[in-house]
Amino acid sequence: MRGGIDLGGTKIQAVVVDRRSKVLGEHRMPTPKDAGPEGVVWALAESIRTAAEAAGTEPAALEGVGVGSPGTVDAGAGTVANAKNVIPTWEAPVPIGAGLADELGTRVFLGHDVRVGSMAEFRLGAGKPYRSILGVFWGTGVGGGLILNGRAWTGRHAAGEIGHMVVERGGARCPCGRKGCMEAYAGRAAMEREARRRHKSGHKTRLFDIMRDRDRTALTSGVWARALDRGDDMAKDLVDRAIEALGAGVASACNLLDVEAVIVGGGLGTRLGEDYARKIEKAMLPHLFVDDNPPAVHVAALGDLGGAIGAALLVPAASAG
Ligand SMILES: [Zn+2]
Repeated sequence: MRGGIDLGGTKIQAVVVDRRSKVLGEHRMPTPKDAGPEGVVWALAESIRTAAEAAGTEPAALEGVGVGSPGTVDAGAGTVANAKNVIPTWEAPVPIGAGLADELGTRVFLGHDVRVGSMAEFRLGAGKPYRSILGVFWGTGVGGGLILNGRAWTGRHAAGEIGHMVVERGGARCPCGRKGCMEAYAGRAAMEREARRRHKSGHKTRLFDIMRDRDRTALTSGVWARALDRGDDMAKDLVDRAIEALGAGVASACNLLDVEAVIVGGGLGTRLGEDYARKIEKAMLPHLFVDDNPPAVHVAALGDLGGAIGAALLVPAASAG
């Protein structure tokens, strides 16, 4: 058995899986925000302990535990730096790997959350029929993962940052500080910033009423989905704007790489689902150089547990079985 943990900005999802990646136990908890990175390490350990218990085992008996994390992940050193959407002050490298291995008594392997999620889709999900895929994780930001000819392409560590493909020179300010990135239009954080700006200047929307009704403090994927269901004009306009940006950015990436399939995941991607994957596919068409043979576009198939199941894949198989 192997463990996998998906460390996110709002929640920690842990699973224990068998050799075929079947989930035997799982646990989900909110990401602790007040106790610093040490508190996060404790929570990661606690989540895998609980998942292991649900699977009828204990952490020390696992072949290993994989962790998919945002930020700058150095798998060799076992550190994570710049994970600001987990803890705003998390800049310096934190030795997650060693800390967690000590707590759990088993080996720990780190990977970048989006790359890990893309590999999970490639091996177990919507990417299974293909040799080369581009994973597009449409959530708070827009992350990307590349599998080329069956292998993850990580470049010099930072490949796959599709959210920062420039779709409009000198365009909207991106959370990364640059201008005109795809994420500046399509990332949920940027979409919310624009919605607040328009709302403040007098434009009508029910987005923030829905947010309050649902006891949220931010425009979550669920809030956007509900507003779209209710025919909210601003929500529709901002999502259409996001789709246009995704169409241009993803098509440009496909022009360069000619992958067989694009897998759309992430909070918004999975929440909005098939209809919106078709909209992205359509928005890509005008920008595709080879438009008579476009890549397949699929919604990620592993859903909410994909990140954690993918993290478990970071643990090398002990033997064939
Ligand atoms: Zn950017």
